[in-house]
Amino acid sequence: MADKIRLTFLGTSSAIPTAKRNHPAILLDYKGEHILFDCGEGTQRQFRKARLNPCKVNRILISHWHADHILGIPGLLQTLGLQKYNQTIFIYGPRGTKKFMKRILDTFIFKEKYSIKIEEVQGKFFETDDFYLEAKSMTHGIPCNAYSFVVKDKLRIDKKKLSKSKIPSGPLISKLKQGKDVSYKGKKYKAKNLTYLEKGKKVSVVMDTSMNKKIVSFVKDSDLLICESSFDSNFKDKAKEYLHLTSEQAGQIAKKSKSKKLILIHISQRHEKDMESILNQAKREFKNVSIVKDLDDVEV
Ligand SMILES: [Zn+2]
Ligand SMILES: [Zn+2]
Repeated sequence: MADKIRLTFLGTSSAIPTAKRNHPAILLDYKGEHILFDCGEGTQRQFRKARLNPCKVNRILISHWHADHILGIPGLLQTLGLQKYNQTIFIYGPRGTKKFMKRILDTFIFKEKYSIKIEEVQGKFFETDDFYLEAKSMTHGIPCNAYSFVVKDKLRIDKKKLSKSKIPSGPLISKLKQGKDVSYKGKKYKAKNLTYLEKGKKVSVVMDTSMNKKIVSFVKDSDLLICESSFDSNFKDKAKEYLHLTSEQAGQIAKKSKSKKLILIHISQRHEKDMESILNQAKREFKNVSIVKDLDDVEV
């Protein structure tokens, strides 16, 4: 079984937070990686409420520099310093991120006791043997990135079949895992007969954007698509004017991209009293959809 990806929704509101919903922030935990997607105002307190340690975060992915998505950064950085954070924090974002981060760090007395690396990213921007991170620019009037976290497909050893061959653990097994055939005690073994493919996983996060041609191909085949859904379709003109998505459009994106599951976030406060209608409009397009509350978590 592949390792689980755990997502905690620290904030799910749009521009104006409400009593129930904090500014946007989503934490993704996977095998020692703690990746924060956006960091709205009050995010560090949301960590406390969720009983999670903010000092574990090692990457922050900023979608764009509208205030609702970034106001929590200075507070979080100060707390990391006070808590003797001792690793490098990587902050990724669209064009302009270096300039905005410099301004943030110049706004208050901040003694940098740990290393902060800031990168403006597009396309695949971080990769290990196990997973990669990818960014794609969206349309929101200012530079804005959608992101995907992709765990790669892996060849796994079929232990039952392997036990008959008696191939010892070590370099031969490593070769098999790379799909290469091996010889052992004069006998040839084909990798395809001793391994099986473990499918990877994909989680995509589409924050503020209007409908555009790039979204569907970027989030294609997501196991989980987290998508902004600022308005219901009664406000579709407003959504267009302010360069946002309706829940119906989010549903269409999930359907066209053949994603498996859709979660709606970044919902305007005007819809808070009637979440059913915003959900049902998405459901007409795509069945497996839900709206999360602050502090909900989901495993993929
Ligand atoms: Zn926003
Ligand atoms: Zn925005």
